[in-house]
Amino acid sequence: MAFKGTKSPTQVVEVARAAFQTGTTKDVKFREKQLRSLLRMYSENKTRMIEVLAEDLRKSRQEVEILEIELLTYDLKHTINSLHEWVKPERPPRSFANWLDKTYLYSEPYGVVLIIGAWNYPLLLTLMPLAGAIAAGNCVVIKPSEVTPASAKFMQEIIPKYLDNECYQVYTGGAPETTELLQEKFDYIFFTGSTHIGKIVHAAANKFLTPTTLELGGKSPVYIDNTANIDVVAHRVLWGKWINSGQTCIAPDYILCNKEVEAKFLKAADNVLKEFYKTNPKDSPDFCRIVNDKHFQRLSGLLKGCQIALGGETDAKERFIGLSVVVDVQANDPIMEDEIFGPILPIVNVTNAYDALNFINKRDKPLALYIFSNNKRDVDLFLENTSSGGVCVNDTAMHFGVGSLPFGGVGASGMGAYHGKYTFDTFSHKKGCLYKNLGIIGETLASSRYPPYSQAKCNA
Ligand code: NAD
Repeated sequence: MAFKGTKSPTQVVEVARAAFQTGTTKDVKFREKQLRSLLRMYSENKTRMIEVLAEDLRKSRQEVEILEIELLTYDLKHTINSLHEWVKPERPPRSFANWLDKTYLYSEPYGVVLIIGAWNYPLLLTLMPLAGAIAAGNCVVIKPSEVTPASAKFMQEIIPKYLDNECYQVYTGGAPETTELLQEKFDYIFFTGSTHIGKIVHAAANKFLTPTTLELGGKSPVYIDNTANIDVVAHRVLWGKWINSGQTCIAPDYILCNKEVEAKFLKAADNVLKEFYKTNPKDSPDFCRIVNDKHFQRLSGLLKGCQIALGGETDAKERFIGLSVVVDVQANDPIMEDEIFGPILPIVNVTNAYDALNFINKRDKPLALYIFSNNKRDVDLFLENTSSGGVCVNDTAMHFGVGSLPFGGVGASGMGAYHGKYTFDTFSHKKGCLYKNLGIIGETLASSRYPPYSQAKCNA
C-alpha cells in the first residue's frame, strides 16, 4: 500500500540535507526540545497507539503498553537525561609522546539518515532508533513498514505535529518506494527487517559507501538441560513465543533438549497454555493475530508437515494460529530451514550440551541464544563456544529491555547494535582529534622527525 505523500524521494532528501546544513540539529538544546516533544507525543497519543496496533495485529492493550510504549518511553527518558553527558567530547588517554598535547573524541552527526522499519513492532522498531538519531544531531527520513498500514499512517500523520517538519520526515510505501528512496545518497542507513531484504539494502548503501546498521532475524535456539526448573522454563519460553504471536525477531525459534527434558517440558507446557489461554485459545483477548494472509498460509503450511504435540488450532478467516509445540523434528525438516516468525515451537532432540553446541554452530549465527540450566559449567560452555547477537540465560526476550546492553545481530542476524547510549553512538561518527601544543618545548621534542635524518636523531 503506497500513501507516500507529496514529495519525491529526491525532494525529501533535499529538504533534509538543506535543514542539516543550516546546523539546526547540531544545537543540543534543539535536539533536547525535539526529544521532549517526542516524549509528549507518546504520552498524548497512547490510546491511538493502542488502537492502531490492535488494527494492524490485534495486539492486546497490555502488550502494546509493555512492549512498545513503555520500552519507547524508558529509552527516550534515558536518552533525554543523558544527552548533555553523551554529547561532550571524550578525552581518550595520551601516550608519552603526546604528553604536552590534548586528545579528543567528538561525536558528530552523520547528516541525513534513513530509518527503515519492520512491521512486527512497527512503532517501537521505528521510533526507538529515531530518538537516537535525533539525539546524535542528524536529520532523519523515516520509512515505516507498509505491512502494518495503520501504524505507518499514524506515524506519517503524528510525527509532523510534534517534530520539526524539515529535519524529520516520514516517507511511506513498500518495496518500490523504498527502492526509489535507496537511490538517494544517505549518510547512514538503519534497517530493521529480514536478512534477504537486508542484503538488498546493504547493496544499495554500498553504492555511496553509506555505513549501515542491519537489524535482521534468524532462528534463535533454546537449550534446556535437566537441571532447570521445568515449570519456570515452560512459562518463560512460551511467553517469549506467545508475545506478538511468535512474530518477534528474538522469539525462541526452536528448542534443543533430550527426550527426558522434552517429556517434562510438554507436560509443563500443557499446563502453561491452559493458564495463558484460560478457555478456547482463539477466544483469548491477549493473543494477537498473524499479520496477513501470506504469512498465515506460510505458517499453516509449515504446521501441516509437523507432528503436533500441543496446540495446532488454526482459523484462516481470523488469521489465527494457536501456540503449537511440535516434536520429532529433524535438522533438515522445512520448519528448520528459515526463521519461523509465528507461534510454532519445534523441539529437536539432542543428547547433551555438546550435541546442542554442534547443532547451533553448524547454522547461521542467531540473533539471540537462550540457555536454561543451573549448571554454570554448561552455561559457560555455550557462552564461550557460540556466537550470537545476544544471549539471555534462563529467560527469553528479556535482554531486549536492558538499556545498558547493546542489541543487535552478528553474521546473518545483522551488523551494528543499538539501545540507550549504543543508539547515540550508532548515529554518531566518532571523530578523533589530536590537539598539538605549539610551544617551543614541544617543538624541540618533536624535531627528530624532521630531515635531514640521522641515526643520532633516531636514538634521541
Ligand atoms: P522485510 O525485510 O520484509 O521488510 C522490512 C522493510 O524493508 C520494510 O519497511 C519494507 O517496506 C522494506 N522492503 C521490503 N522489500 C524491500 C525491497 N525490495 N527493497 C527495499 N526495501 C524493502 O521484513 P519484515 O517482514 O518487515 O520483518 C520481519 C523480519 O524482520 C524478520 O526476519 C525479523 O526477524 C526481522 N526483525 C528483526 C529485528 C531486529 O531488531 N533484529 C526486529 C524486528 C524484525
